[in-house]
Amino acid sequence: MQCIDPKKGNKLLTNVVTEKQNYKKDRAWIEINLNNLIHNANVLKNVMPKNCELMAVVKTNAYGHGDKEIAACLNQNGIDTFAAATVKEAIRLRKNGIRGDILILGHTDLDLIPEVLEYNLIQTITSYEYGKRLNQGRYNQKIKTHIKIDTGMHRLGLEAEAADKVIELFFMSNLEICGIFTHLCVSDSQQSTDISFTKLQISRFYELLDKIKDTGLNLPKIHIQSSYGLLNYPQLTCDYARIGIALYGTFSTLEDTLKNQWNLHPVLELKAKVAVTRAIKAGESVSYGRLFISSGDMKIAVIAIGYGDGYPRHISLRGGHVLLHGKRVPILGRICMDQLVVDISEIPKVKAGDIATLIGKDGEEEILAAEVAEKAESITNELLCRLGERLERVYIIDEC
Ligand SMILES: *Cc1c(COP(=O)(O)O)cnc(C)c1O
Repeated sequence: MQCIDPKKGNKLLTNVVTEKQNYKKDRAWIEINLNNLIHNANVLKNVMPKNCELMAVVKTNAYGHGDKEIAACLNQNGIDTFAAATVKEAIRLRKNGIRGDILILGHTDLDLIPEVLEYNLIQTITSYEYGKRLNQGRYNQKIKTHIKIDTGMHRLGLEAEAADKVIELFFMSNLEICGIFTHLCVSDSQQSTDISFTKLQISRFYELLDKIKDTGLNLPKIHIQSSYGLLNYPQLTCDYARIGIALYGTFSTLEDTLKNQWNLHPVLELKAKVAVTRAIKAGESVSYGRLFISSGDMKIAVIAIGYGDGYPRHISLRGGHVLLHGKRVPILGRICMDQLVVDISEIPKVKAGDIATLIGKDGEEEILAAEVAEKAESITNELLCRLGERLERVYIIDEC
């Protein structure tokens, strides 16, 4: 699906529109460009070694982009391996018609294993003990699993050194070991100590795989890299790369995003309407706390979006901007739950109902998600996945 016939629509994606179609816009919303998503998936497939497949990470509502729509679009474009963080996320994907493998990356309570089986999901084995308990559960079929190996992150997984325990899992009769993987914790860094550490993690993992092979077992699917792992260590021998943030057309920091080595296209734009405009006089204050005081007569606009929608309050008084009529205008004073105020003295033609762009392009100007994240002293991943449920998500694709 690279395009859509607006008359016929699309079975999996009911809320898709084309650029030309008009859709009703309320106060604040997200526009998701599915052509950019498809572009990014293709770019990523091209940088991966030949036998490596893309595992699309769609946890936390696909980093705020809408998990069922993102997964459906990818599914229709030949991607059939997904990763979720939780069993509930994985079930949601299945209930919305997503086919293929769905790996649950995180812990699933044993009470919910019947659902893992019912929906044909794959559970990560997060520790030896957990694997043993999974094996002891009385289910009438084998549980599909991937074994997580801790090579230095010290979060989830069996220790890479404990080869005996890992091998034991392969012999547990109620487990089907479909994969084995590890996670890198400083693969984004260019510092030499971090590069050494990443190489150590990688070698620990491959050494473990050798020990498994030495016992005569066949290796299941293997995977190591996430977005930064693929960026900085692209040539590892793997069956999958687990890609989240890059799929959405950005990296975690502004610096990395601006390099844009792969020519990724941002998938998400965040927009909101001007609610009212008004004039204030010199010496008057704007918003809670009276932290902005006007030094002269000025014109301001109230934009109908706030931290209740996931736009970070931390950006207040830290030089944040929005785009209006293709120009950058500064945010004034504190960001509120449902509104924020901007200075429109330079563009007095702004009126109620005009559309402000908080993330995305307007004319020649662009505000990257990574820029907003940096202003919020965070990373793009956090910013995007916290964009709230109150925002409507509109999916846009080229018209055939
Ligand atoms: C979230 C996650 C990923 C995806 O990471 P990105 O940096 O967004 O590509 C990959 N693997 C694991 C284990 C994760 O938790």
